[in-house]
Amino acid sequence: MTAELISVGTEILLGNIVNTNAAYLSEKMAGLGISVYFETTVGDNEERLTMALKSALSRSDILVLSGGLGPTADDITKETAAKVLDLPLYLDENVKSSIEDFFEKRMIHKITENNWKQAMVPEGAQILFNPNGTAPGLILKSKEGDKTVILLPGPPGELKPLFEEQVVPYLEKMTDGVIYSRTIKTFGIGESMLEDAISDMLKNQTNPTIAPYAKTGEVHLRVTAKASDIQEAKKLIQPICDEVSKRFGKNIYSMDENETLEESIIKILQNREWKLVTAESCTGGLLAGRIVGVPGVSDVFGRGFITYSNRAKRKILEVNKKTLEEFGAVSSQTAKEMAVGAAIAAQAEVAVSVTGIAGPGGGTEEKPVGLVYIGCHIKEKNYVKKCMFSGNRQKIRESSVANALGFLRQCLIEYDELA
Ligand code: ATP
Repeated sequence: MTAELISVGTEILLGNIVNTNAAYLSEKMAGLGISVYFETTVGDNEERLTMALKSALSRSDILVLSGGLGPTADDITKETAAKVLDLPLYLDENVKSSIEDFFEKRMIHKITENNWKQAMVPEGAQILFNPNGTAPGLILKSKEGDKTVILLPGPPGELKPLFEEQVVPYLEKMTDGVIYSRTIKTFGIGESMLEDAISDMLKNQTNPTIAPYAKTGEVHLRVTAKASDIQEAKKLIQPICDEVSKRFGKNIYSMDENETLEESIIKILQNREWKLVTAESCTGGLLAGRIVGVPGVSDVFGRGFITYSNRAKRKILEVNKKTLEEFGAVSSQTAKEMAVGAAIAAQAEVAVSVTGIAGPGGGTEEKPVGLVYIGCHIKEKNYVKKCMFSGNRQKIRESSVANALGFLRQCLIEYDELA
């Protein structure tokens, strides 16, 4: 079964928004074992969308469209798809009342006339009710029944839940049997090193398949199996997960698709009933931001310090003046003292610190741009890691955050093993 994606929106063609929906949908379709052969972006123009739809229908079984389902006149996706498939539109009372409910819940009592455009549904369509917006998603079938056209709203916050909760089960039913995947999330090992270490497994893969994906500081391995039922798929996947665990046990922080590195750390801290504090220089709060992104983190994380200047490092974290003079702000000694000082100031068991040169200026031969020290303090123990990152200022800061989290996790595990 082959699929293709059509992203609708002049904003995308103008470069005003990044087409994250296409990246998301491509990854999800691959996870379902459905091959995506084409990906098109087209503006809010009926003639060109018609052309895109016709050529996509001539070569693919499933079309997934995103965007252009809104209430305004330039939202033409549904009307155009219905015309191309020759499906008349009717006013669907259930969709109409779901739109009324949506506005009522938000205490908006005056619904503009153009909103009812969203209640018009092509004949025979399966409606994907959208709790996060007014435009429902739709699954249309060609009259011959051989083509499936899935229409999804553009905002990612609406598209993703609709896709996961309603489209995935639909597509799973369309494919023979089930497709099940697990994501093994690793940290602290580069993509090429990891690929090399599992080259034997990658070479022989048929079912399950193993696909590596690199993220900042992380490499994920998606293991996907096709089977007649979920039990059988899980059975096929398990030996792969076991083998990867055997080879990279310490580098794996999760086998849960939805769990992030920071979530896995917060879980460890919650289990130990420990408090965490951050002390950041070059990352200026980015690290604390990732940590606070975890829901329910307040029982673990109470505060973070941004100490960009030497004076702040001294005054807030009590970094020794002599340390700064002798070794400099970007040094393992300063990273260590920042972590210790933060732990004392916040009365926390665990502290993580970051100090480095994010550039573009400020580098020297001895301390070049990209040099970053990460400190970690756990109760009475101190750990420091020296890193060298490449890229621009933003990239270096993001890599610092990712590595600070990875190092913190590694230290927590090491501390546990030594205890
Ligand atoms: P709405 O009901 O909100 O009008 P829609 O289905 O009509 O949704 P669009 O009007 O095409 O969607 O896009 C609405 C917003 O959704 C865009 O401004 C953008 O923020 C986001 N969006 C649309 N398409 C994409 C895409 N391909 N990738 C990422 N974001 C997108």
